[in-house]
Amino acid sequence: MRVVLLGPPGVGKGTLAGYLKETYHLVHISTGDMLREETKKDSPLGREIKSLMTQGALISDELVTKLVKQKVEHGLDLTQGFMFDGFPRTVNQAQDLDVILESVKAPIEVVLNLDADLDVLLKRLTGRRVCRKCGALYHVDYKVPACEGICDLCGGELYQRADDNAKTIQSRMQVYHESTSPIIAYYAKQGKLKKIDANLEAADVRRAVAAILK
Ligand code: AMP
Repeated sequence: MRVVLLGPPGVGKGTLAGYLKETYHLVHISTGDMLREETKKDSPLGREIKSLMTQGALISDELVTKLVKQKVEHGLDLTQGFMFDGFPRTVNQAQDLDVILESVKAPIEVVLNLDADLDVLLKRLTGRRVCRKCGALYHVDYKVPACEGICDLCGGELYQRADDNAKTIQSRMQVYHESTSPIIAYYAKQGKLKKIDANLEAADVRRAVAAILK
């Protein structure tokens, strides 16, 4: 199964990706994670990416598409299913992704379009904590680890992402509405779009998604 997870910041794409990885063994391709890796390199490019991410701005289509192309052509077992999380974020990226996947004869089959009310998104983002070691997701109210600040799964340290602050979240929401939401119409035209009400709790979202993927 080849899937795109679409939706605004905080809608639960990462959480759903964890479920799809575990249940359907889909490979998780998160451009946000790939870019965060780049920022760890103390290079001019790494610093530029970090600065844009901290502002909540998008990284250029050219750079992100290059990373995805490399991953698809050299780092992916195409006999296995996969899901994109956080990519595409512009119509240009969506068109490029179609070309890349067409060339390896593995087109996207379904686009899960998650949506939730703004107050729900804000609460999820401001309370989100991430494991520095394994990337597992937590929340200060909804998913509290057994031991404060420590990942239940690997014992790694939990941290708050630098872009999960009120000011950056506002820019990220604006960027989503201006640059990313037009992708919804792009995939609807292809007949691949499935709408998911992500105001629901994670277990209900999983059930809705399972019904679509069965
Ligand atoms: P995410 O982890 O998906 O929330 O992404 C975090 C940040 O990484 C975004 O706010 C952007 O600055 C950058 N980013 C991630 N994916 C993309 C993409 N497909 N295109 C451009 N920028 C991206």
